[in-house]
Amino acid sequence: MSNSRSEATHTHCPYCALQCGMTLTPATGYIPLEVAPRTDFPVNAGALCGKGWSAASLLRPEVRLTTPLVRDGDQLVPTSWDTALDRIAAGIQKVQDHHGRDAVAVFGGGGLTNEKAYSLGKFARTVLRTSQIDYNGRFCMSAAAAANNAAFGMDRGLPFPLEDVARTDCLILVGSNLGETMPPALRYLSELVDNGGTLITVDPRRTRTTERATLHLSPRPGTDAALALGLLHLVIVEGLVDEEFVARRTTGFPAARAAALAYWPERVEEITGVPVPLMRQVVARFTSAPTGMVLTARGSEQHASGVATVHAWINFCLATGKAGRRYCGYGCLTGQGNGQGGREHGQKSDQLPGYRRIDDPAARVHVAAVWGVDPDTIPGPGRPAYQLLDSLGRDGGPRALLVFGSNPVVSAPRASHIQQRLRALDLLVVADVVLSETAELADVVLPVTQWAEEDGTTTNLEGRVLLRRRAINPPDGVRSDLEVLAELAKRLDSPVPFATDPAEVFQELRRASAGGIADYSGITYARLARGEQLFWPVPSEDHPGTPRVFEERFATPDGRARFIPVTHLGPAEAPDAEYPLLLTTGRVLAQYQSGAQTRRVPQLVEAAPSAFVELHPHLAERHGVTDGTLVRLVSRRGEMTAPARLSTRIRPDTVFAPFHWPGQQRANNLTNPALDPVSSMPEFKVCAVRLEVP
Ligand code: SF4
Repeated sequence: MSNSRSEATHTHCPYCALQCGMTLTPATGYIPLEVAPRTDFPVNAGALCGKGWSAASLLRPEVRLTTPLVRDGDQLVPTSWDTALDRIAAGIQKVQDHHGRDAVAVFGGGGLTNEKAYSLGKFARTVLRTSQIDYNGRFCMSAAAAANNAAFGMDRGLPFPLEDVARTDCLILVGSNLGETMPPALRYLSELVDNGGTLITVDPRRTRTTERATLHLSPRPGTDAALALGLLHLVIVEGLVDEEFVARRTTGFPAARAAALAYWPERVEEITGVPVPLMRQVVARFTSAPTGMVLTARGSEQHASGVATVHAWINFCLATGKAGRRYCGYGCLTGQGNGQGGREHGQKSDQLPGYRRIDDPAARVHVAAVWGVDPDTIPGPGRPAYQLLDSLGRDGGPRALLVFGSNPVVSAPRASHIQQRLRALDLLVVADVVLSETAELADVVLPVTQWAEEDGTTTNLEGRVLLRRRAINPPDGVRSDLEVLAELAKRLDSPVPFATDPAEVFQELRRASAGGIADYSGITYARLARGEQLFWPVPSEDHPGTPRVFEERFATPDGRARFIPVTHLGPAEAPDAEYPLLLTTGRVLAQYQSGAQTRRVPQLVEAAPSAFVELHPHLAERHGVTDGTLVRLVSRRGEMTAPARLSTRIRPDTVFAPFHWPGQQRANNLTNPALDPVSSMPEFKVCAVRLEVP
């Protein structure tokens, strides 16, 4: 591997949505770059977690792909780029000739840069002309995104900078374990508490995040909506509604009020297990605080009623007047590195760049003009992620799939079933940095550049657009995703050109997003390189960006936030005699998402070598299980086996398993693909299981 650059490169972490600033300098050891945290980037201000510190380990040639591979019987064998690309183009052509354009599907990822996500969406709509494109962010952000759009007219995960979180007077943090997922963000919670603020956490488990809380609520998994409705009920009956704010800045309160009145405290205690006095304390603290926020994350959102749950929390914020002003509001904590930007520029099944809707005629005309195609040739909305994966190889479903930067074999719900669907394809192509479990099934594997080997922008969880810089040349034999798309476009007689230079793609993205909700038209690489902190929307080059989006008005047509009345539906699957326990899944500090990258980093493997099943000692005793006993969890969809880890931090009726590992340790063998009717978010966070000792 050669490194043509000698100077320090200021860039950002390849992993989570905090996008910590880091500096890379050439190193002489077997890892080619040294990582140091940046103190000048305000979000992490000199801190990194272990994943960030060890990120350069993935640049080692021995752990990453460096040559294209093609299937030869049971084997993947090295081949040339031309052979690999020709085989893909011929396969696509054949499938589309026989089965139509929608027989070829595309699956993207929330880790792709904005430029890659944009080009992937354009490639699907203009070259393949397939409607069948979605991405793994559907499994991450779709519930909060749908609720944000409905309530506020805009889905920017945090409508304010993280620094505001430290300055609010009362924060309710729901279903987030920041201490494991993005530890540098813990400082905002510590600052809040040090400033005299109140931190209230809601999580069925006690974690290193909940340790900092003033109050901790531990509801049964899948009952957060009932809890939020119960809190709103108390606000109403105790006369604590901010009537002036509700009248001036919102619509729809009467229906939300009527819905909440059905959730009296004792009923909610019965549903959630949260004692009534604790609920009263939460309401007293939140309503008496001058400012307050509610932040949700996957624990609250990854449910078949995830959108309703988020609406319940938004309604609570609106009724108490804690929205639309400084240090107040609802926000969701995005997970993947470019989870925010990745859902703005067109790799979602229903979306065009700039967060435009694909079924909006004006949006189609605008984007078609940028692409240079007839608007009528742009397909309509396709299947959302799980439905797309579930339809693979079936009658009427896609027969070929191109996967970019995603590992659904580990990360999809009911994963063993999805693995079977992938095996049923005529053609599976995976472009990735490493040989992931999904790549192992592929007919063609393409080795692509990563993070420190390419330029590109990402958008962090605050809507802050960032420039990642190339610090090192990629190994020989590796190409960028943009080059892959351009080469395939050429082979498939694309009607439009595809740029391979990220800066050039970004220029096009700017034009495509202009006038959209996520307007990037005023952002340039030069502004980002100068260190300007630009939060979208940035509608012109002299616009300073919009760190706080709702202080004047909400983004709805009338400028008012909308109450959406909801009820508590509960988990799609309840415990019964056969499956008496609840399983909730989540993350650990040293691993990231499907683990495809972090399971290849020695320091992280040492810190977190395998999955485990966390259970309460009372439950363990009933099963004769001690710490380290190998246990099997079984659900209606499959099973996993891992060592037991006893902890009083979890409810005795619930077990927890992290989802970063494949094979027998794959927690997603068990998870329930029951889908939210609005967002198609699967119910990752709760399903019924039984525990066995093999
Ligand atoms: Fe990277 Fe997230 Fe860790 Fe920061 S918190 S170093 S962005 S993984």
